[in-house]
Amino acid sequence: MNGLTCPACEGVYIVKNGHAHTGKQRYLCRVCRHQFTLNHTRTPISPETVILVDRLLSERLSHRGICRVVGVSRSWFRRHLQMLIKTVPHAIETESPASKKASTLQDQRS
Ligand SMILES: [Zn+2]
Repeated sequence: MNGLTCPACEGVYIVKNGHAHTGKQRYLCRVCRHQFTLNHTRTPISPETVILVDRLLSERLSHRGICRVVGVSRSWFRRHLQMLIKTVPHAIETESPASKKASTLQDQRS
């Protein structure tokens, strides 16, 4: 049908499926339900940019500021943060004797 093949399964039963937010025609593979556009113009974020974003994050800059300076979209940035949240450990298992002492001292005072 219409000379298109599915990029996922090479199927040829392709139908039109609305438009992307950029206005491009979207297609749907009737075999595997994969949705796609032709000649997509999305440019991937370079690894150097990702490293720069991570370095700026460690400097505690505002998220919007990082997006403006580096030139990445806030939706990409949000997805990147979600990925970081999943991969970076958040709790360090330590027991500090100093903080324990301080808390017991405060308890005695009150
Ligand atoms: Zn398919």
